[in-house]
Amino acid sequence: MCGCHSSMTPIKTTCPYCGVGCGVEVTPAADGRWELRGDPDHPANRGRLCSKGAALADTIATDRGRLLKPVVGGTEVNWDGALDAITDAWQRIIRDHGADAVAFYASGQMLTEDYYVANKLMKGYLGTANIDTNSRLCMSSAVAGHERAFGADTVACSYSDLETTDLLILVGSNLAWCHPVLYQRVKQARRARTDMRVVVIDPRRTETCEIADLHLPVAADADISLFNGLLSLLAAADELDEDYIATRTSGFDAVLDKASPATTEALLAETCGLATKDVALLMTWLRAARTTVTAFSMGVNQSRCGTDKVNAITNLHLATGRIGKSGCGPFSITGQPNAMGGREVGGLSSTLAAHMAFSPENCARVQRFWGSPRIATAPGLKAVELFEAIERGDIRSVWIMATNPLFSLPDADRWRRALERCDCVIVSDCVDDTDTLAVADIRLPALGWGEKTGSVTNSERCISRQRAFLPAPGDARADWWAICEVAKRLGFTEGFSFDNVAAVFAEHAALSGFENNGQRDFDISALAGAAERTYLDASPVRWPLGAPEVFQDGRFFTQDQRARFVSVKAESSIPQATGRFVLNTGRVRDHWHSMTRTGRAARLCEHSVEPLLSVHPEDAAALGLDEGEFVRVSSDCGRVLLRCELSPQQRLGEVFVPMHWSGRFSGASAINRLVAAETDPVSGEPAYKCTVVSPAAEPVAWSGVYLGPATVTLETDYWVVVPAGEHQRILFASTEGSAAVAASARNALATALLPHGNRCITLHDAQAGIHRWAVLGVRNELIASLSIGVGEIDRDQGWLSSLLNQNGIVPMDESWLLAGMSPLPQSARGRLVCSCNRVWENEILEQVRAGCMTTEEITSRCQAGGGCGSCLPEVQSLIDQHQQQEAVCQAV
Ligand code: SF4
Repeated sequence: MCGCHSSMTPIKTTCPYCGVGCGVEVTPAADGRWELRGDPDHPANRGRLCSKGAALADTIATDRGRLLKPVVGGTEVNWDGALDAITDAWQRIIRDHGADAVAFYASGQMLTEDYYVANKLMKGYLGTANIDTNSRLCMSSAVAGHERAFGADTVACSYSDLETTDLLILVGSNLAWCHPVLYQRVKQARRARTDMRVVVIDPRRTETCEIADLHLPVAADADISLFNGLLSLLAAADELDEDYIATRTSGFDAVLDKASPATTEALLAETCGLATKDVALLMTWLRAARTTVTAFSMGVNQSRCGTDKVNAITNLHLATGRIGKSGCGPFSITGQPNAMGGREVGGLSSTLAAHMAFSPENCARVQRFWGSPRIATAPGLKAVELFEAIERGDIRSVWIMATNPLFSLPDADRWRRALERCDCVIVSDCVDDTDTLAVADIRLPALGWGEKTGSVTNSERCISRQRAFLPAPGDARADWWAICEVAKRLGFTEGFSFDNVAAVFAEHAALSGFENNGQRDFDISALAGAAERTYLDASPVRWPLGAPEVFQDGRFFTQDQRARFVSVKAESSIPQATGRFVLNTGRVRDHWHSMTRTGRAARLCEHSVEPLLSVHPEDAAALGLDEGEFVRVSSDCGRVLLRCELSPQQRLGEVFVPMHWSGRFSGASAINRLVAAETDPVSGEPAYKCTVVSPAAEPVAWSGVYLGPATVTLETDYWVVVPAGEHQRILFASTEGSAAVAASARNALATALLPHGNRCITLHDAQAGIHRWAVLGVRNELIASLSIGVGEIDRDQGWLSSLLNQNGIVPMDESWLLAGMSPLPQSARGRLVCSCNRVWENEILEQVRAGCMTTEEITSRCQAGGGCGSCLPEVQSLIDQHQQQEAVCQAV
């Protein structure tokens, strides 16, 4: 336990996953583990957690898989050695090639204080704006849209607006899976307020549609046409707020001229690939509603026209005066835990600092505040541009912190070659095995969640603490400390001699208020004077501090204090051709980013075990694909191999693949290999949601399942690791012949497991085309099992998992093992739907077939949904599917 927290008083901290920013209470348990629950006092969640947050205690690991020592050129060194090596490299490169030849690539996982010193070093002391962040990949279009409309990156809403609005429009947001606690808040509000409407605009019918009164399956990138068209229709119906437009905004006439030419609901519906009656219903509700919130997320931002989409949405709110009032506004919901904190310090290359743009006045002001020797005077390179500069050799060293760009950038394979050629790649991370660490020249061990202290800001501008409750493992140190140590070695001692993290925060807060006088939106200078103890004990606080909600006074942060309408024109539609599909990517419910943390919690790994290609059954039939079959998906950038899932929730002509499977957890399935490095021209955000791909059935000769210790690796054409604590399942398949696959799998097994006194029993059924091996330990316990067969092997193997490491398997069981069958009557479990109470799909279906037709009944019968509640949309969807099947049967 961390020395500073030895009492049983819960330690209040913040969940490290999504931008909801839920408060978490952590208490040491008697058995040395940690008990964890939602913080009832935190304004974001009031005690709720989702499945990921609820499983955080399972993900704590201070030794396994951790980077524990600094490493330079493959050799472990002490911190002095590593910091000196960075300093030498950067001094040499800056001397020979200038400051723009070094760069920093940050992350929304970083704490605000880490971000602050990184930005200060790069922009203020080295004089380059080449610091960007992986937040560029998820919400920079929202930032650019806000700046164009409001004159500052101001988020116009708070979470309570989602609950008080008459009409909630969710665009490109699967709230149920990506921001589950917000989803639960909306669901509860909607239950209490029968007059509240929820509309989901998304090409897919996602789990969020469980609470939707209307789902509009809009065609890919047709959002601008839709919002422009709604604006035109409202104008034609004389339903705009003329007074608000006249007194609080500028540029309206131009916007209306450029808006969609669709002047009827039917035309608009046709343009957007929607049903006329659905557009008409949305129009009716828009006209009737007194208040509207349009909440949007990656489906809007991650687009070649993401910034224009944000402004099309914002235009509608300005034109109806539905902004700056309770229950009103466009609301960007961020993906990462501290995307907003990064925006506040200036972690994006396009912002100077503290929400200030690169004007000459701001540059002079910030340099004055920092007392720095120089200041960057123009925006730096945005994420993809930054890696292009590395590829060209213009940037010769990059310091990558808390992110894995070789997994997350579009056209991911291309940057591997760029980083391999780069003179000095520095990676700070808390895990020891990522795609990017593999090409690092210098590796720095960082603190993970539970070990570091600092602040994060959530989607509604609420600043909370992450607090340490675990000791630092090995030589891991805080990121802000490592940056300051390099800065001091570079000769900038005065600017980076912070005694503690509280001092960093105090300076950040002071800068926000420096020469502000109410001119800038971000001002938390009231927090600048806090002593260290006050900083550490601080409760969550939402800005603006001690002032009305943003825009309530009708003032914006432009020169004339009016909001600007931004004329945006709809993009031409995605070119379609036979055999070509639009690929959409996104998250699954129980995983986070590249699974480095969620992959440690076995219960989070059984909900979505493989990166499936979701395809509409009609499209699948045309492609000759059936459920579970393999499909090769190609784009102009690369190829991946995936298993296919039939999904009527998909639009025809569009497919979906989740983004979490990195090279550590899968071979040939990392989806960002397919996504082109095409970006929004304003924000620089990549278009992850709209890649043109060609799927083609790829029959595999063999498939197999390995179950056993995590030390075994099997690499075939297709492999996916499903972690389960000390054990793992590997699902694999190959187009190679049987002999080659069987031999390589058997060798992998033998090398890893047989030298320990274990024995191997085998079965080869040539006629059935099945090979099975089971490794038994000295006490006859099951150590591992491997099955390879022609066609489909039982991938679930739940009964085998339960046998692992049980003592004394009787000989009869050996025959069951080799037969691949449970000795007990057991049926397949399906996916793990409720990860809190471990309730599987087929158990729930059994209750549905027995007559349970509400989620409450299911919960009372089998506990599904009785934990965090994140699975309730899926439970409902299983009930709905059953009812639909019943209706079809009755009709027949
Ligand atoms: Fe964490 Fe879930 Fe809350 Fe997001 S919604 S902050 S993942 S507990």
